[in-house]
Amino acid sequence: MRILLAAFKQETATFNPARSTREHFEIVREKDLLALSETRSELGGALTRLAEAGVEVVPTYAAWAVSGGPVDDDELDALIDEMLDSIRANRDVDGALIVFHGAMAGVTEMDPEGRVLTAARALLGDVPIVTTFDLHGVMTDRLVQHADAIVPFHTYPHVDQYETGQRGANCLLRLLETDVLPTVARIKLPMLVRGDELITTTGRFGQAIEMCREIEASEKGLAAGVFIGNPFTDVPDLRSNVVITADGDAAWAQQKATEIARFMWDNRGHFVAPLTPLAKAIQIAEGDGGLTVFSDAADATSSGASGDSNAALKGLIEHDYSGTALLPLVDAPAVQKALSAGLGATIRVALGGSIDRQRHQPIECDAYVQSLSDGHFLYSDGLPGQAGPTAVLRVGRYTLMVTTLPVNIMDRHVFMACGLLPEHFDLVVCKSPNGFRPHFEHIASRIIAVDLPGSTSANLRSLPFARCPRPIFPLDERVEAPAELA
Ligand SMILES: [Zn+2]
Repeated sequence: MRILLAAFKQETATFNPARSTREHFEIVREKDLLALSETRSELGGALTRLAEAGVEVVPTYAAWAVSGGPVDDDELDALIDEMLDSIRANRDVDGALIVFHGAMAGVTEMDPEGRVLTAARALLGDVPIVTTFDLHGVMTDRLVQHADAIVPFHTYPHVDQYETGQRGANCLLRLLETDVLPTVARIKLPMLVRGDELITTTGRFGQAIEMCREIEASEKGLAAGVFIGNPFTDVPDLRSNVVITADGDAAWAQQKATEIARFMWDNRGHFVAPLTPLAKAIQIAEGDGGLTVFSDAADATSSGASGDSNAALKGLIEHDYSGTALLPLVDAPAVQKALSAGLGATIRVALGGSIDRQRHQPIECDAYVQSLSDGHFLYSDGLPGQAGPTAVLRVGRYTLMVTTLPVNIMDRHVFMACGLLPEHFDLVVCKSPNGFRPHFEHIASRIIAVDLPGSTSANLRSLPFARCPRPIFPLDERVEAPAELA
């Protein structure tokens, strides 16, 4: 038995004016993919499970990037061509597992994953193709049409990448080893969601995921999940979706999908984010001791924002916040200035607003160059991160980790690679809506979701949606329930 393995992952925030290019992507080819079995990624889970099952893995091509702006058209074409060339060269297989994020967008290509899967299906023919997705994926008709099974994450914040890879592999093995007849039921929900109730361990969304888990544990269930879409990927298919893959019984799959869709729809009013104004958040941080973490979801690099917002820094300076603070910032020109001046220099430097100039304006600061590094590090899941040349700058009591490239500000490893321990500060800004929580909750005395400007603001009505289907909750006042729920 030969199983083709491939991955193609990026999450696009279309409101980020920066383009994602090849330099943002990690690309791993053919046999080198096998080394990823050591990581806690979907590929790690899939490789481990397929090895246990004793099947031969045919590794082809994996490309993944930190979330960011739309992928440049030419570069997207080149990446897809490379991937399809690799699949074409290895098409003599019994099945395939393809790992997607699902919320990628080009400048003009609105559904890169659908294009990849359609082409892969044409190359591979009728063999079973199982796909895995981030639950922030945007589910398109092409994806539903060409995947035999659709296996999304079950946790938010995401801690089940490895397990999702294993679930995907298990699903594929079932399709290969038995006479299973997969059928996919999918219900489109005109809703975009945010907020704490999405946290699967504590929020209402967890109840929907529990229903999905029960389906997967049942005899007929192959895969089940709720795609909430990345609300910042403004494409024609942006919405939420319930997607169930079952063995044979299409009516049963439809009935299960309807139950979950009804739960999500009825609870839509709870899936909004309460945000705290910055002045109030700083006042709270000034209070009792312990570490305060600000969630700056509006400039969340993990959601695809530019990462160059200095809004939190500005607020701390204006309110003369008396504690120590650690803030990440994407600012290539500032890093270059620090590199030119050298370690130990004090520079006059413009900070922030180097990318999303409409939303963020630079501020001039005197900054001490505390450290310089090449920006190579490993995330806690074992996957490599590339921050590019990185400078740690001190502006009074505030420490800025200034990177050339955007990186996920979720786990603490990126800070630690620069010699910065978040728990040694009074305040840390995480440019992440929720993904940071598993890495900070045990060291934070309080976490505050702060209302700041940015291309991934949880205040969805502040964003210039132009392509997603309307009407849609919460952008519009009167949104009708989907026909399946009537
Ligand atoms: Zn996600």
